[in-house]
Amino acid sequence: MISISEAIDIVKNKCLPLLKETTKPLEKAGGYKLSSNIYAPINMPPFRQSAMDGYALNWHDKLTYTVIGEIKAGDNHQPILKKGEAVRIFTGAPVPDSANTVIMQEKISRNENTIKLDDPITINLNIRTVGEQVKKSQLALAKDTKLTPAAIGYLSSLGIKEVNVYQKPTIAIIATGNELIEPGLHLEYGQIYESNSKMLLSTLYSLKFYDVTLHKVKDDYNETLNTLDKVIKGHDLVIISGGISVGDYDFVGEALKALHVEEHFYKVNQKPGKPLFFGTKEDTYIFALPGNPAASLTCFYMYVFTALQRLMNNEFYKLPRIQVKSESLFKKHGDRPQFLKAIYNGNVVTILEGQSSSMLQTYAICNALVFMPGEQSKIKVDDLVEVILLPV
Ligand code: AMP
Ligand code: MG
Repeated sequence: MISISEAIDIVKNKCLPLLKETTKPLEKAGGYKLSSNIYAPINMPPFRQSAMDGYALNWHDKLTYTVIGEIKAGDNHQPILKKGEAVRIFTGAPVPDSANTVIMQEKISRNENTIKLDDPITINLNIRTVGEQVKKSQLALAKDTKLTPAAIGYLSSLGIKEVNVYQKPTIAIIATGNELIEPGLHLEYGQIYESNSKMLLSTLYSLKFYDVTLHKVKDDYNETLNTLDKVIKGHDLVIISGGISVGDYDFVGEALKALHVEEHFYKVNQKPGKPLFFGTKEDTYIFALPGNPAASLTCFYMYVFTALQRLMNNEFYKLPRIQVKSESLFKKHGDRPQFLKAIYNGNVVTILEGQSSSMLQTYAICNALVFMPGEQSKIKVDDLVEVILLPV
């Protein structure tokens, strides 16, 4: 059995950036990485813009100016100002070539067509110069930049409508188990509603992975084998839930072997989530997560998250960790390192009830995991603990 850090390292080293290119409309490109440099097709701003509501002046060394007109955002006239003349101007409006400074309206007093400045000012104030953000033909965003909302806004401001990006992985989720039925159906004795596939799907969606297919298989060797075979061939990443443990009806391990999936690890020294499998077949990465819902989700955050970041060529492949004071007392049994469901309130962390790997009830309100090393048996109130922040 390997350690948590060994397992994360294996995932990190085996998962390589996908680097398949595609074109996306800009508004759908959030979270993707650019696969080529983008050069500015225009100057930004394209004309001298007023940064304030106020007056554009052709500067002279007196405090009074004559107002000769008005320019609002979107106007395209160019009044010619002589020295000592001003135009009323608004934020975003074009500053005429003959104006050399803009004064805020709060810093003048107006009397009919004359304004008087409260204090002397200098030239070149409150004017956004042409190409101040980026000049035409300059590098606007470099290849490999991740498209954040701000990046989408920036490219949009340059008039760009579509971008070349690296594809995101195609992902399959397979839920295994005879006992699982769909919400909406009547629960017979012995059955439970299937919850892991929607939970994992929603985690993927929240990380902006939308190309996901869902599959269900019974605890049947042939069905497991056939579904896995088909799904592995058609996806970059396969996430299996359940059936990877040591029960007589756990067929996932056997099927993966029969399909010649190369095993990189099986079983990690951790709680929850000991029976965790990671392997590859050709270009497909395969995780088999334990079926217990809380264990499944924790393994997703700790390992599948890392795989996804690596496939996307992202620099940060682990969730952020911080040291925080605990508000709770917690006693751990056994010597396995443990991830504990917790709430971090920006100041301290509270360890929640219901730590069992089968229980989602408190996971549902948790936003962090406390990591408790194997050798530690107790967390006391006010102890500093390691907190992993979840992307919820
Ligand atoms: P397994 O890993 O298949 O042995 O399942 C362990 C536990 O998790 C059992 O109690 C299963 O009923 C439960 N379980 C497995 N898969 C799911 C699922 N997709 N949704 C809800 N519970 C599940
Ligand atoms: Mg099962």
